[in-house]
Amino acid sequence: MSKPLYRSYSDYLKQKYGEKVYKIPVNLAGSCPNRDGKISSGGCIFCDEEGAGFQCLPNSLSVEEQIKANKEFFSQRFNANKFIVYFQSFTNTYLPTDRFEQHLLEAVSLDDIVGISISTRPDCIDNRYLDILQKICDAHKIDINVELGLQTVNYHTLQKINRGHTLAEFIDAVYRIKKYHFEICAHIILNLPWDNLTDVIENAKILSALGVDHVKLHSLYIVKNTVLGQMYQNKEFEIIPLDEYVNRVITFLEYLDPNIVIQRLVGKGPINENLFCNWNTSWWFIKQKIERKMKDLNTYQGKKFDYLNKKWF
Ligand code: SF4
Repeated sequence: MSKPLYRSYSDYLKQKYGEKVYKIPVNLAGSCPNRDGKISSGGCIFCDEEGAGFQCLPNSLSVEEQIKANKEFFSQRFNANKFIVYFQSFTNTYLPTDRFEQHLLEAVSLDDIVGISISTRPDCIDNRYLDILQKICDAHKIDINVELGLQTVNYHTLQKINRGHTLAEFIDAVYRIKKYHFEICAHIILNLPWDNLTDVIENAKILSALGVDHVKLHSLYIVKNTVLGQMYQNKEFEIIPLDEYVNRVITFLEYLDPNIVIQRLVGKGPINENLFCNWNTSWWFIKQKIERKMKDLNTYQGKKFDYLNKKWF
């Protein structure tokens, strides 16, 4: 049997739960220390007002209402029976701890929920939230996955995009979460205009060395009325061509530990609000282009990574 191109999330879920599992996004009315003035008031330069929750239902609906509506949709459309509740927007571990716990309990009290995924910033991980997650994990036998926005390991670029944290906070968060044995997913953007191929390789090496469990790759999308949007309109940077993005994704995968699960190869931008998104083509087309090229090159995730000796070729 030929080697898989990469360790896909859908295969991983099917193996783990014995059937297809769907992620239900939940949108909480929250904020982020990088937007409310604690760290900065501008936010990451690509962040829109939705706080990266544009695929969610409105946060005026309760957690239960959002989950029930989405469950109905997925059940009818895909015949789905098991779900992971994905707290997607803003910085979920920046909520007051009692509200955080209450929302999680609301989610796990519903039927067919096998896991919870929490999206947050690395500098907002502390033991109070991790203790709550542990309590819920033990009481409800629910899997926990913490999604950390990193975007790049290059701290100069992190500064440029006004992330408000550097690589150090990410490393600290990974070590803290690992003590609790929860899964960790890292978000990475491979076409940030200030990063080059060396940064792409370094992203893969550092995530492998730290032993994160999952990776979500996003291509950069540029939304109207953001700082990045303004810079783009002022022609302060250029976006790499699609073929170069494809090469970057392939190189990233070659240097990545083959045990790391790939949740996503290409991101989806908000509809109608974009100045640039996925080279005006569908994320699905880009995914197929990456997979086709990997087959042509006879390459695969981890090709340049010696797992036993933790060395890169
Ligand atoms: S951390 Fe997330 S919510 Fe906060 S400013 Fe950045 S992208 Fe927006």
